[in-house]
Amino acid sequence: MLSEKNLIFFRKMDAITLKKAWNECLTILKDIIPEDEFRIWFSELIPVKYEDNFLYINVPSNYYYEYIEAHYVDELIRTIRRVIDPSVKLRYMTKVTESDLMTMTSANHPVIENSLQNAPVILNNPDIKELPNPFIIPGIKPIKVDSQLKESYTFDNFVEGSCNKFARSAGYAVAQNPGKTAFNPFLIYSAVGLGKTHLAHAIGIETKRLHPEKTVLYISADQFLRQYVKSVQDHTTNDFLQFYQMMIDVLIIDDIQFLENKAGSQEMFFQIFNWLHSSGKQLIITSDKAPVDMSGFEQRVLSRLKWGLNAELQMPDVQTRMDIIKKKLEDDGNVSMPDEVIEYLAYSVNASIRELEGALISIIAHSTLSKRSITIDLAREIVDKFVKSNTREITIEYIQKTVCNYFNITMEQMLSRSRKGDIVTARHISMYLSRKLTKSSLVTIGDKCGKKDHATVLHACKSVENTCQIDKNYRKSVEDIEKKIIS
Ligand code: ADP
Ligand code: MG
Repeated sequence: MLSEKNLIFFRKMDAITLKKAWNECLTILKDIIPEDEFRIWFSELIPVKYEDNFLYINVPSNYYYEYIEAHYVDELIRTIRRVIDPSVKLRYMTKVTESDLMTMTSANHPVIENSLQNAPVILNNPDIKELPNPFIIPGIKPIKVDSQLKESYTFDNFVEGSCNKFARSAGYAVAQNPGKTAFNPFLIYSAVGLGKTHLAHAIGIETKRLHPEKTVLYISADQFLRQYVKSVQDHTTNDFLQFYQMMIDVLIIDDIQFLENKAGSQEMFFQIFNWLHSSGKQLIITSDKAPVDMSGFEQRVLSRLKWGLNAELQMPDVQTRMDIIKKKLEDDGNVSMPDEVIEYLAYSVNASIRELEGALISIIAHSTLSKRSITIDLAREIVDKFVKSNTREITIEYIQKTVCNYFNITMEQMLSRSRKGDIVTARHISMYLSRKLTKSSLVTIGDKCGKKDHATVLHACKSVENTCQIDKNYRKSVEDIEKKIIS
């Protein structure tokens, strides 16, 4: 409690005494309010004056006023009464424009001078047109926030496979009930080109479809960072913060790794996160790695990222890659492409879906421009140019397909128990080449070659080696098939 003498000074609005009294209040509040909350909501408050038994506190935005009123008004009033005067009342002030201050009286003393509903909507910054944040202090007018969602990235064309099943269905659940599932934040991570951005948009689009009234915003972390930097230069960080906190129901931040080692923007993100999360709003975040592997982030930010659900996207298997190619061809106006080319592409492009798409587009473009039909040779030329830096993944399935094509038999025949000459030869050669060209164990090879045991595989391999030594034509066939596989 301040001494009577100080109080007199204080009533005379002595700035130093006011500051001292306020610091005393903060010391008390710090003990009763959780640390994070205190830092976010109280460290920015500034005592302005004490007049007519009202303590005026400057809050960075209306938002602070609302939050404090909703959560901590009792603690705050109790404290200022203890430190300053048992009958002191509280008023908040916030800057609305450079020249205009808005004052709100604490609800404990309902003498609203300037109600929030009548607050002017201002500060539309014309310099920031390309950015979605209109830097508007929320007021009466419902404003339209450009969601920045790409219409083509829907769930419908996000092909499902075991590589993305979990993330896809969690994302779907989020879109059904944004902010209401345990998946908040929902963090999607993967290497590049595996569908993070696509899935994030799909969730946004589906949310808008099911809940048109919700405001969804997609923003890359890079854009977020630029907005933040601009707001610091323009002294509008409060508006920046307020825009995110007040306007958005579903916030999608893509490629959060852009905020690595950027303390200021991480702090903003932290505050936005806390607010949105505690108000039941949904956060969807993508990253190039799992939170445990992220560096350059503050621990408290990382811990927030781990709160909800983290889901990984992996490189799709060959079958899913074929499905993706077919879907793209269909969406591209039903372009026809021979099955063997689709297979070839799916087998040989294995670094990312983006690369697969690139190779596909390139093949279509070449065939259109040079009026060549789409053949496996054309595909091979393009893939060789395109996928040069990647060693192609040779799978048992690819070997089996190539062998089947060579002997003109079907996969079913190859995997059957048939003892017919060609079929047995094909089966043996595919086991032999699987042993030679892949790292798979005898057990795996046997499993994939019609559920044979490892001794059968070993026997097949020996048999091929022996026959190669005594039969020139047979050896030539094995070499030809091998060349086809590794070319
Ligand atoms: P990331 O953000 O992980 O780098 P993107 O979302 O940009 O990857 O995906 C790269 C390309 O691959 C995009 O054109 C996207 O449409 C496509 N893609 C990714 N996953 C799928 C999928 N499951 N089905 C269809 N297309 C996909
Ligand atoms: Mg992306």
